[in-house]
Amino acid sequence: MLRTVAPAPEPCDCPGCSGAELDPAALIDDLIDGGATLLGIEDPLEAELFAANLLALGNQAGEGFAEALAGGIIPALEEIGSPEALAVLHAVAALEEGTAAADAAARLTGSGVPSPGWAAELRQPVEAEVFLRFADTGENLSVLVATFSRAGRSHGFSVNVVHGDCHSATEILLFPGTVLDQVIDMIQNNEGARDLVITRSSPDPESFRWETERALNARADHDQDTDEPAEADPADEESPDYHLSAELLRARLRLLPAPSRPPARHGD
Ligand SMILES: [Zn+2]
Ligand SMILES: [Zn+2]
Repeated sequence: MLRTVAPAPEPCDCPGCSGAELDPAALIDDLIDGGATLLGIEDPLEAELFAANLLALGNQAGEGFAEALAGGIIPALEEIGSPEALAVLHAVAALEEGTAAADAAARLTGSGVPSPGWAAELRQPVEAEVFLRFADTGENLSVLVATFSRAGRSHGFSVNVVHGDCHSATEILLFPGTVLDQVIDMIQNNEGARDLVITRSSPDPESFRWETERALNARADHDQDTDEPAEADPADEESPDYHLSAELLRARLRLLPAPSRPPARHGD
C-alpha cells in the first residue's frame, strides 16, 4: 500500500465522477428506488454509503446542492412520506452537516411511518477506536488509519497521502474493523519495496483529524480542477469509490475534537 513511487489518484466511478446529470425529479425517483433497497439491509453502514453516494453527486454538482437538498429534495421525500422515503431520510440524516433530514425523519416517525430496523442502530453513538499513522522516513507518502465502532460493529479507513502532491489523498480503503491487523500488515510489509523503512505512530484524534482533512481537502481542490470523468477500476470492487468513502470519512472526522490548529491552506 505504501509505494516508493507516488501513485496517481485512484480512479473513481461515483455518480459525480461518471458525469451523471442532476435532474431533480429523476433523482427523487432514484432515491425512492434506493429506499426500497434500504428497507432490506441490515448493516446501517450500507445506508450511510447510500447517503454518501448522494452527497458525492451533490458535491460534484456544485455550490447550490446543499440548498437543493434542504430546500427541495428533503421536503419532497417528506411529502412522499412512505417507508422508503423515510429510509432515505434516515440515511441522509446520518451524514448531513445540518439537521434538515433528521427533522423531516422525526416528523414522519411522529406521524406513524415505520422506520427500517437499522435506523435505531444508526443512531447509536459512534466511538473512535484507534488512530495510526505510517510514513516512510522521507515523509514522501503516509497512510492514515482509523477505526470506529457503533453498536458492536467496527469499520476502518485507511487513507493514502502523497506529501509531494499538496499532501492530497490518493486512495481510501474502507474495511471491516475485524481486518485491521491485516491492513496494518499490508502497509508495513509494503508490497515490493522492502528497502523502505516505515515508521508507525499513534496521533491524537485532533491531529489525526487535522491531517486527514488536509488530505481530503487538497484532493477535493484537485478534483475541482479536472473535469474529466474518471474511469472505474474494475479490479478494485472491494472498497467503495473514493468520493463515497471520503463523504463517510468526513462525517466520522466531524465527531473528533476540532483541531485548535487552523486548517492547512492548500499548497502550504
Ligand atoms: Zn468520485
Ligand atoms: Zn495542490
